[in-house]
Amino acid sequence: MLKAAVLGATGNVGQIFVQLLDGHPWFEVTSVAASERSAGRTYGEVSRWRQSVPIPESVASMEVVDIDPSAVNDVDIVFSALPSDVAGKVEEAFARAGYVIVSNASAHRMDPDVPMLNPEINCSHASLIEEQRKIRKWDGAIITNPNCSTTVLTMPLKPIFDEFGISSLIVSTMQAISGAGYPGVPSIDIIDNVIPFIGGEEPKMESETQKILGTASKPADFKVSASCHRVPTIDGHMEAVFVEMKKKVEPNIVAEAMEKFVGEPQTLKLPSAPEKPVVVTWEKDRPQTRLDRMEGNGMSTVVGRIRKDPVLNGVKFIALGHNTIRGAAGCGVLNAEYLKVKNFI
Ligand code: NAP
Repeated sequence: MLKAAVLGATGNVGQIFVQLLDGHPWFEVTSVAASERSAGRTYGEVSRWRQSVPIPESVASMEVVDIDPSAVNDVDIVFSALPSDVAGKVEEAFARAGYVIVSNASAHRMDPDVPMLNPEINCSHASLIEEQRKIRKWDGAIITNPNCSTTVLTMPLKPIFDEFGISSLIVSTMQAISGAGYPGVPSIDIIDNVIPFIGGEEPKMESETQKILGTASKPADFKVSASCHRVPTIDGHMEAVFVEMKKKVEPNIVAEAMEKFVGEPQTLKLPSAPEKPVVVTWEKDRPQTRLDRMEGNGMSTVVGRIRKDPVLNGVKFIALGHNTIRGAAGCGVLNAEYLKVKNFI
């Protein structure tokens, strides 16, 4: 078993890490860290556990420590679910201390020597780890996940990009409130309401999509326009996607490409890999957030309503994925599984 620390373990994403790693065949949580508000008390006491499964007993009794390499027990891998403004320097300190850190925060995502991995799409970008070690002169490494909405989006885009090419892309999101952390958006702002602004989200979706679908050294060159909106659902980001393709094909051909798409996590049979990264539904009113977000244990993107787009002369469809599982902790765990199999850990 490899020993794992979770930084930001008490937050929305941190709790999902703790939940997904409970009973994991390869990783075991042996250290939990959070802010000084929580440090020194037990995880059970301070986490305000909000998951529908019971809090893992072994973690509940652990003392929460500071987010400092010297405070964390000797571990083999570190998962970070820290706010971005805190994560930057802390993650560097862990990498400098020799740890491989798998991060959900945006602080290092766009650094040219940091792989931003959504493993079905671009695990070959893990080759940047060697470059990062040389440039930064450290033995550890920082590997990031994309932003939650980008993770969900890039799954169905990958087979389109590979088979037909993409010239331009428009995406409009309906994002759940758990994406804003805990306690997140005040209830009085979000109940009976839609908020048409999520700070920093649109530029992230645009640049991260290009980085993931590009090569390790060069982003993809199609244009992306994103409009991001917060809606009153708890979990699950829905996205209306409009794609202009280089090769003009009918919607059913696009659907076939999505249905048969698998990536390296499926070939390698990684423990958290969903059988189907993209699940296509043909029901006229699906996917729906409440009914479909747990597809593939929350690790698949569900796509429906694939149809012609008369403006872009391409296709349009609806995509849905679980933002704190596939869009955050689940993607982090899958990244760690890939890194272990490829001997980066
Ligand atoms: P959250 O619920 O607000 O949790 C933040 C965590 O960080 C808590 O454990 C908190 O500890 C800790 N923390 C806050 N300030 C700290 C400080 N100054 N020093 C040390 N620890 C501190 O946030 P979240 O939604 O889990 O998001 C975590 C990260 O994942 C963010 O970077 C976010 O952008 C990213 N992300 C989130 C999602 C999502 O869907 N939620 C998806 C993708 C990526 P205390 O409990 O002690 O305050």
